[in-house]
Amino acid sequence: MKKIAVIGAGMAGITAARTLVQAGHQVSVFEKSHGAGGRMSTRVTPYGTFDHGTQYFTVRDPRFLKALTEVPGSQAVCRAWSANAVRVLDALGRVIEAPLPLREPHFVASPGMNALVRHWAQPLEAAGQLHFQTQVQFLKRTSAKGAWTLVGADGSQHGGFDAVVLAIPSVQADYLLRQSGAPASQFNGLKVMSEVSVAPCWTLMLAYPLANQPGLSHLGPQWNAARSVHHRIAWISRESSKPGRAPLERWTVQASAEWSMEHLEDDGDRVQAKLLKAFAELTGIRAEPGYAQVHLWRYAKTLQPLGQSHVWEPSLGLGLCGDWLLGHRVEDAFVSGLSLALDLA
Ligand SMILES: Cc1cc2nc3c(=O)[nH]c(=O)nc-3n(C[C@H](O)[C@H](O)[C@H](O)COP(=O)(O)OP(=O)(O)OC[C@H]3O[C@@H](n4cnc5c(N)ncnc54)[C@H](O)[C@@H]3O)c2cc1C
Repeated sequence: MKKIAVIGAGMAGITAARTLVQAGHQVSVFEKSHGAGGRMSTRVTPYGTFDHGTQYFTVRDPRFLKALTEVPGSQAVCRAWSANAVRVLDALGRVIEAPLPLREPHFVASPGMNALVRHWAQPLEAAGQLHFQTQVQFLKRTSAKGAWTLVGADGSQHGGFDAVVLAIPSVQADYLLRQSGAPASQFNGLKVMSEVSVAPCWTLMLAYPLANQPGLSHLGPQWNAARSVHHRIAWISRESSKPGRAPLERWTVQASAEWSMEHLEDDGDRVQAKLLKAFAELTGIRAEPGYAQVHLWRYAKTLQPLGQSHVWEPSLGLGLCGDWLLGHRVEDAFVSGLSLALDLA
């Protein structure tokens, strides 16, 4: 039995932690935010929830399907979401025929996108193995073969670990390892990380309480989700169309990777105004929203993955997992976390 620390409670970290526990290890998960889910997240507002990160997930990998089928309660959390309603829009908002890959089943977690990882994290939380609001600042090791200690941003120390798994975005893993100095700086994973590139994503959340007056079910287009080739916007979806959500008319708008990169350091108000204008051009909805909020994901989407499922260095007791090793989707994070844990176990 090893004592293992997992940093990050997103899909990759929770998958790795669960698998390591099943293999008989003693696992502690450290997460900087107040709940599990990572980029599979749900923003709660007075107007209802927004899946402002992951929009939906696919189930292509048989191992992911097995987990969804066999982990008790998972099927009750996952719901199919009108997949074939996804359209592709041109820059003027005109519908272009949806290409075939968009027609595969799309799933969401219910009542919000974070529900699946939270459900899977529940046994760890109940066993006191999940430490929220604990941002790991750096790692240290007393000797070459000594145990790892995690040092939190608040100065707290968590020691005695035989192995540490970093289940966080590549840029954050790179920073954390560099902060940790030797021997973490000799880790091969640090050298390969420069091959990975990740794009940001500005996200706009909109609610229209007035649209839910009697006799008016919703505003604007008949479709619920669309990709777009508009230079500002890559994706639009009607949050209120997802299963298990409150009916109040809500939209989530994701800027394109290129536009998000160009406007990375812009003021949020300016970004909001520009995305709202583009949203009106694409949907025809020109009404004033009752609620509008932007969120910047700095490390949203992998553009260039590492191309291997995980990194595990037994001599150092250090491992890496996360979507960025394989791709940019929830399933990539799952497969990466699972593969690392099976290798380590
Ligand atoms: C806007 C957006 C839209 C997306 N749309 C889709 C989609 O439609 N379909 C799809 O399949 N995928 C989508 N994705 C990608 C999907 O969200 C990711 O592939 C997946 O959630 C990644 O999981 P992960 O566990 O690898 O990383 P994350 O979910 O990022 O988890 C990492 C966790 O580590 C924590 N953390 C980071 N640093 C530290 C630290 N130092 N100490 C402690 N904790 C730390 C973070 O708080 C986070 O909880 C989208 C992502 C974004 C941002």
